[in-house]
Amino acid sequence: MSLTNQIVIEKAKEIGFNLIGFSRAENLSDEVKNLEKWISNGFHATMDYMKRNIEKRKDVNKIFPSAKSVISLALNYYTNKKHTTENGFGKISRYAWGKDYHLIIWDKLKLLEEDLKKIEPEFESISYVDTGPIMDKVWAVKSGIGWMGKHSNIISREIGSWFFIATIITNWEFENNSTIKNFCGNCTACIDACPTDAIVKDYVVDSNRCISFLTIENKGDISKEFQEKFDGWIFGCDICQDVCPWNQKFSVQSSIREFESIESEIKLNNVLEMNSDEFSSKYEVSPIKRAKLKGLQRNANFLLKN
Ligand code: SF4
Ligand code: SF4
Repeated sequence: MSLTNQIVIEKAKEIGFNLIGFSRAENLSDEVKNLEKWISNGFHATMDYMKRNIEKRKDVNKIFPSAKSVISLALNYYTNKKHTTENGFGKISRYAWGKDYHLIIWDKLKLLEEDLKKIEPEFESISYVDTGPIMDKVWAVKSGIGWMGKHSNIISREIGSWFFIATIITNWEFENNSTIKNFCGNCTACIDACPTDAIVKDYVVDSNRCISFLTIENKGDISKEFQEKFDGWIFGCDICQDVCPWNQKFSVQSSIREFESIESEIKLNNVLEMNSDEFSSKYEVSPIKRAKLKGLQRNANFLLKN
């Protein structure tokens, strides 16, 4: 049996993916120019890895020489729960409430790629989740699973924007989807709500001002300029997605139980009292380990000064 888009969609849905789209593995020259402009403005902050492998980002054939198609997959992580806003607690971004999504998605991708290879032995692929020199959001837009919102996350008309994106590059030629319309229209809710003015213009986020970067990837101190502006976030920030009307209308509960909340806020004093062994064991399979204990304690101290 030869592989078709429909077979991939059925298999991916059986495994739990919510949205699946296909694009031709073409050169991303224009999109890379936008990335280079973003970097030349310094909006990548200290994420110097964004500057590396530009040629691979532009041309997936540099990663996978027989690439014909790119499959973009979305996995919904929304759980129907709100943060408590008690004093003395720091809020965690929704994507990090449960088990580390990399672990969940890698397993699903492996299953899917094995299934597809069983159906078509000539199917070859390489896959990525949030790592590697892949412009996953660009491919997601090209594949028609959503459009890029002004906050620079991908939005689906079916499930909003609370989803992870996985990308498969393959030698198999699938029918391409078309891109869909951008439905942001005149809305500016995300830009207006951002407490640190990080969305410097439509579709452009300055990481130097974004709470998500400042509390996770950032290794340095947090500028006093942002004191009183963090709205209680200790790890990441969901404000621009929380206020988006597409999430308010279309978010649906994820069927993945491992995304259910183990912890959605942390007591700041507990963070300050934690030692590295406690941190490692508590966050061994959580995205929170990315901030490291030092980063989490810096964030807790910053919030306690507010
Ligand atoms: S994540 Fe928070 S700080 Fe970053 S752009 Fe969105 S609202 Fe602004
Ligand atoms: S809040 Fe409005 S402008 Fe921002 S991403 Fe959502 S729809 Fe687009």
